[in-house]
Amino acid sequence: MNTIITEDIKTHDEARQGEAFAPLVLENNALKKRFYIESYGCAMNFADSEVVASILNTNGFAATQNTEEADLIFLNTCSIREKAEATVRKRLTEFRKLKKSNPGLLVGVLGCMAERLKEKFLQEEKLVDLVVGPDSYRTLPGLIEEAETGQKAVNVLLSRDETYADIAPIRLNSNGVNAFVSIMRGCNNMCSFCVVPFTRGRERSRDANSILEECNDLFETGYREVTLLGQNVDSYHWIATPTQATGGNYKEAVTFAELLEKVALISPLLRVRFSTSHPKDITDEVLFTIAKYENICNYIHLPVQSGSSRVLQLMNRTYTREWYIAKVNRIREIIPNCGVSTDMITGFCTETEEDHQESLSLMEYCKYDLAYMYFYSERPGTLAARRFKDDIPEEIKKRRLQEMVDLHRIHSLQSMQKDVSKTFEVLVEGFSKKTTDDLQGRSGQNKVVVFPKGDYKKGDYVMVKIDSCTAGTLLGTPVK
Ligand code: SAM
Ligand code: SF4
Repeated sequence: MNTIITEDIKTHDEARQGEAFAPLVLENNALKKRFYIESYGCAMNFADSEVVASILNTNGFAATQNTEEADLIFLNTCSIREKAEATVRKRLTEFRKLKKSNPGLLVGVLGCMAERLKEKFLQEEKLVDLVVGPDSYRTLPGLIEEAETGQKAVNVLLSRDETYADIAPIRLNSNGVNAFVSIMRGCNNMCSFCVVPFTRGRERSRDANSILEECNDLFETGYREVTLLGQNVDSYHWIATPTQATGGNYKEAVTFAELLEKVALISPLLRVRFSTSHPKDITDEVLFTIAKYENICNYIHLPVQSGSSRVLQLMNRTYTREWYIAKVNRIREIIPNCGVSTDMITGFCTETEEDHQESLSLMEYCKYDLAYMYFYSERPGTLAARRFKDDIPEEIKKRRLQEMVDLHRIHSLQSMQKDVSKTFEVLVEGFSKKTTDDLQGRSGQNKVVVFPKGDYKKGDYVMVKIDSCTAGTLLGTPVK
């Protein structure tokens, strides 16, 4: 295990890895064929699976959660760390038996691992029939037809403009309250450790009107929270095409702060979250927009990766420790009580004990409410793999990670304890995991809150006074 497990589903929820998806409502007997899809990695991948479900559905496939009745099995994969890829390879071997009993069954690999390995995947994993990169999902129907004739089908072309803007995602395994809305794709940052720019291509922003339409539809159908997703949401910048601009009643370009505001204005009853922010790009304008609207949640995921300026430079993060700290101070100045979370990597190339201590002291300063922590995993083709030696032994990487996890545990418990006796507005997401006598939801700061059910139901906003807490949950009582 190289990450901390949390109850949060903000960007990368370990508990949801490999989750089999079935939609909320998608029972159509006219659809004779069945697809099964499992998703790995970040929220972007989970959102992509909903686009894939929509494309398959309009092409004659209904979803199933049962691999045994599937005609088509897809794994939507992640390449971010070696372990993520190993999990997918192991899962693939489990389909061997199914293929024997059902020779017509097709197995496809989607997403980042497909993009990274391309045709090589077919040679390495003989049971795979389709390899489809994240920008090629529109071609799935044709690729499936090709694979049905017994040929292997591959499309891993990356695009400069594909955003799937016009495709209405089919919400999979949804609680009907929270939904992910993808606002951009790809990434132009070249963090030296990261494979994403190679697997997801150039950054592009989705048409703001289509985002607003999707959020509006979600609200109309009862959803009460949207999370706007991108690898680097703060660099969202959508420019209308000239024809739209001349005929339209909107400005030519939309920034992230403007988009946030537009989504917030759909209804005060629609909560807005977003992820992920790159510290170099989040602006005061965004912070003031969050402060201005009650329904934009006071929570920012601001990955730092390391507390050492020397390591940050090798990582190509384009900021220093001091610069990052100033950004956190600014967030807390403009949005008091803002929840802040981060991502951290231990054991990056050349990291010394002093560098590691700097990471710990930065965490001590920031006292994150939540942290996703990983040890460095070299990814082939990345800048770091080409330029630097992966020279920190695994046991040292893991020891440093453990020290970091232990420190964060103290901070996250302190963060929970700080909330005891305060009152928060909680959006109810369903029953608590332990009993149907209690409901569970989240505060604006993204903390899980459990309280007695009373007459409340999913989708309600409830003011809850916090009586006590555990390491991961606030326990409270509704107040009128
Ligand atoms: N775009 C986001 C950002 O800039 O922080 C997150 C991208 S990535 C999907 C999520 C996290 O995985 C990163 O923030 C980083 O901490 C971690 N990560 C990425 N590459 C890694 C690697 N090679 N080894 C270990 N962790 C890695
Ligand atoms: Fe990877 Fe950096 Fe882009 Fe995040 S910002 S996806 S860490 S390259």
